[in-house]
Amino acid sequence: MKTLILTIIIITSAVMKSGSSDQQRPTFRQLTPDEAFVILQKGTERPWTGRYTNHKEAGTYLCKHCGSALYKSADKFDSNCGWPSFDDEIENAVIRYPDADGVRTEIVCANCKGHLGHVFQGEGFTSKNIRHCVNSISLDFVPAELEKGVYHTAIFAGGCFWGVEYYLQQEPGVYAVISGYIGGHVKNPSYKEVCTGTTGHAEAVRVIYDPEKTSYEKLVKMFLEIHDPTQVDRQGPDIGNQYRSEIFYLNQEQKVIAAKYLDILRDKGYKVATRLTQASEFYDAEDYHQDYYFNTGKEPYCHGYTKRF
Ligand SMILES: [Zn+2]
Repeated sequence: MKTLILTIIIITSAVMKSGSSDQQRPTFRQLTPDEAFVILQKGTERPWTGRYTNHKEAGTYLCKHCGSALYKSADKFDSNCGWPSFDDEIENAVIRYPDADGVRTEIVCANCKGHLGHVFQGEGFTSKNIRHCVNSISLDFVPAELEKGVYHTAIFAGGCFWGVEYYLQQEPGVYAVISGYIGGHVKNPSYKEVCTGTTGHAEAVRVIYDPEKTSYEKLVKMFLEIHDPTQVDRQGPDIGNQYRSEIFYLNQEQKVIAAKYLDILRDKGYKVATRLTQASEFYDAEDYHQDYYFNTGKEPYCHGYTKRF
């Protein structure tokens, strides 16, 4: 699960379409300093440190910067060199340039010209005799199942996203939970900017789930039971409009279901603060926020389960 979640930092429009969203991903993603060092300044990540070096899942590798599809998992092979290796690229996705060192051939994304790595010929690894040696940090990955569009998306904000993510990713049928920001007026906000409370964004999670194994209804109920939907612009010790409770629906069906459960809570006497809003652009949070509790071994401090239905 951990690997899967980490690999889905960018889910492209294929997934959003399955949730009937008309959201568009920004063309170029804001890069972290480490990503910019490789992708923009043509640096090289240390061997054996990238997340895709030994990655064997079926699917497509995308450009981290612009989201273009670059390589298919079927063309990936073990070269034992410490970086992901491919013996073919997706047609017209990669451009070759003579490297500044005068010896090697540099490869870049054909769309955004982001640096990928180098390509070598005649090493005899595979029958194609070509090795695209690509920095993991230049890549993102979409698993084959997601490409089929069988997964759906739900978006919830309920205080600090680490806690919401922690509980929702334990729900059977949930494939991945991605922390991020939604509902603000600034493009590509950083965590620091959102923390000021002035960008209008809420800390939120994007839940990718299998509708055969769970349902939006179940997720809405779960969401309303793992945070306190009566708190206004706060959740426990976290105070500010970025910690507000809000359900961002992606289609009319989700809106109707979410409204039904908010009404049920009101009928039970809860003073519901949870807003119900049409989803706007969702920005994935920086990598270090993903799987925070899983990676740190800590327990959520501001979320817990309370039965309300
Ligand atoms: Zn690109």
